[in-house]
Amino acid sequence: MAKKDRPLKKLSPKKRLRRIGELVEPFRVTSGKRFRLRDYDPDDTRGLVSKEEAQEYLKTGVALLAEMQDKLYAQDQWGVLLIFQAMDAAGKDGAIKHVMSGVNPQGCQVFAFKAPTSEELDHDALWRTSKSLPERGRIGIFNRSYYEEVLVVRVHPEILEKQKLPRSLVTKRVWDERLEDIRAFERYLSRQGFLIVKFFLNVSKKAQKERFLERLEEPEKHWKFSLADAQERKHWRAYMDAYQDAIAKTATKDAPWYVVPADKKWFARLVVAGAIYEALAKLKLRYPEVGPEKKKELAAARAALMGEAKSAVRDKRRPVAKTRVVAKRRSLSRSSTRTRPATMAPPAPAEELAADTGATAADES
Ligand code: ATP
Ligand code: MG
Repeated sequence: MAKKDRPLKKLSPKKRLRRIGELVEPFRVTSGKRFRLRDYDPDDTRGLVSKEEAQEYLKTGVALLAEMQDKLYAQDQWGVLLIFQAMDAAGKDGAIKHVMSGVNPQGCQVFAFKAPTSEELDHDALWRTSKSLPERGRIGIFNRSYYEEVLVVRVHPEILEKQKLPRSLVTKRVWDERLEDIRAFERYLSRQGFLIVKFFLNVSKKAQKERFLERLEEPEKHWKFSLADAQERKHWRAYMDAYQDAIAKTATKDAPWYVVPADKKWFARLVVAGAIYEALAKLKLRYPEVGPEKKKELAAARAALMGEAKSAVRDKRRPVAKTRVVAKRRSLSRSSTRTRPATMAPPAPAEELAADTGATAADES
């Protein structure tokens, strides 16, 4: 992306989409044919020259995402599942935090999956993640997911040993079978109206080492460091092979993978935001159409509200009304010492007034 390009927010929606599409397309995998993880450079930035430039893009991308999420929520038909997988310190948490920073928390759910509990091990492998799938109208984020069943479990066969599968079912084909099941599960979800977008944050072994060393040097990052993470580096090759196979066998048009270059965090975040935006744009989301019945209801509500205002003005002018209010005030003060009659109430706080008029904080920004 060259500097001369017009800023994203100044482009028409169609052109914006094309620009974002150009940026994310090289990292999208929709078929396993010819997929080679080693063809993807973790340090790629597609010619974007600076972090500042990328941040400008990201800001626009995040604002656009918020707009789309509002429509997704209002329409309440499609659901979105975003899956984040990566080696340690690849920047999953940061990407989720930055990319989703502009969206309404009510329409978004994040779940992190660690080593399974004994209750989880008592169920089938997809049980725990199925319980956390997003509802229609919402964006669900899985920070790690059922893919761990073909990644960490594959790299460490001792984990598979601890799973309570009947021995006769654990054959050489176990990984192929799991991948086949995941593919079928995702196809089922997409046929149910759930859009799935999967991200592998592709960090290099070298960049991971630098980030681990950084964590050791900065006291506020110590909590993030564990010796086990450093030891896991010994299995790097096995992990890459497992990722290669998992991506190749589960990349489809309905549930694409994005192999996101993650050595530059700022670029990774931009690709993630772009990919989500592009996926949502394909849903052609719109605010629900209001039918003639609903329009009548809205007109009636408006007339009632306007009528309220007019009668309030009339009441103010009529002296009789005053006596009525006084009478009411007397009866109220007799019946309860705690209830403050409406006529004596102090002015409502600003936020109540805003709520009354339907205004929100977002309206102000
Ligand atoms: P952080 O960036 O904070 O390190 P994280 O996602 O690595 O985030 P951790 O608590 O460090 O979180 O690690 C969770 C661990 O749980 C990972 O090592 C992951 O491989 C493991 N895990 C997740 N799912 C499974 C599973 N089904 N079976 C075994 N281990 C799992
Ligand atoms: Mg970890």
